[in-house]
Amino acid sequence: LVRLRTRLSRSQNAIGRGLLTLLSRDRLDEDAWEEIEDTLLSADVGLEATGQIVDRLRERTKVLGTRTPTELRALLAEELTAALTVDSSRELATSASPDRPTVILVVGVNGAGKTTTCGKIARVLVADGRPVLLGAADTFRAAAADQLETWAGRVGSSVVRGPEGADPASVAFDAVKQGIEQGVDTVLVDTAGRLQNKSGLMDELGKVKRVIEKHGPVDETLLVLDATTGQNGLEQARVFTEVVQVSGVVLTKLDGTAKGGIVIAVQRRLNVPVKLIGLGEGPDDLAPFDVAQFVDALLD
Ligand code: GDP
Repeated sequence: LVRLRTRLSRSQNAIGRGLLTLLSRDRLDEDAWEEIEDTLLSADVGLEATGQIVDRLRERTKVLGTRTPTELRALLAEELTAALTVDSSRELATSASPDRPTVILVVGVNGAGKTTTCGKIARVLVADGRPVLLGAADTFRAAAADQLETWAGRVGSSVVRGPEGADPASVAFDAVKQGIEQGVDTVLVDTAGRLQNKSGLMDELGKVKRVIEKHGPVDETLLVLDATTGQNGLEQARVFTEVVQVSGVVLTKLDGTAKGGIVIAVQRRLNVPVKLIGLGEGPDDLAPFDVAQFVDALLD
């Protein structure tokens, strides 16, 4: 946890840095407010949320007569916390039936970190004594299945793959079937994400989901999003929410960006909670998303 904290704070301090210069001012004049706005925007908080946060801050500092940097920081922390808080649970869903494994479908554009995230989630579950089966439903690139197989070996889970070019839905179907037969705790289905052929991909994903559902419900559909792609990536991601019912977002590569404010934009635009965050390429570089810890890191 300490390691995660340092890694987050090292990369997430865009707002903190901006704030530092601000706090050296002796009063909150128009320039100061503009700077707060720029700071939030440069951290990828997004136009709409930034506007709301700054409006509320202006209002509250006026009412409260806020003057000291410490007071302002505390108010900003409160506003960021409010902006990050969601009603729905951030826990990964589990199977409603003891006879059936939990089924997690993992979607997102190529390169976002789907395969890596499958490996990391498997790692956590296996370490917890919960056997995992990984399904390689990205049959378009043999390398993708190879990569998943490497992860399976690394974290001690089994893997189901098909020949290159096989129907992704049939691999997904087999994976869940074998998961049920083997009595594993969780089946994670890794999918393809070739956005250049959008309608084809979306048809494919819809089919993967429908075919899995012949065995029972998909318990969780995780959309994997690369935090470094910013607002553009967010637009691409919306396509996925239109085709499969996304229940949670995994925001990867937060170790490589100072734009942690993207969490706020993601949750607002997609209306889905960020459940997990990726903080590196290694098997242990995955953490549950925690608002308090994240706000601390943002303001560090
Ligand atoms: P996929 O195409 O969506 O399956 O993406 P991959 O899992 O193959 O990941 C693409 C690249 O991003 C790989 O080089 C991963 O090691 C890297 N990656 C994935 N997650 C993270 C993360 O949280 N942090 C960093 N720094 N790299 C990551």
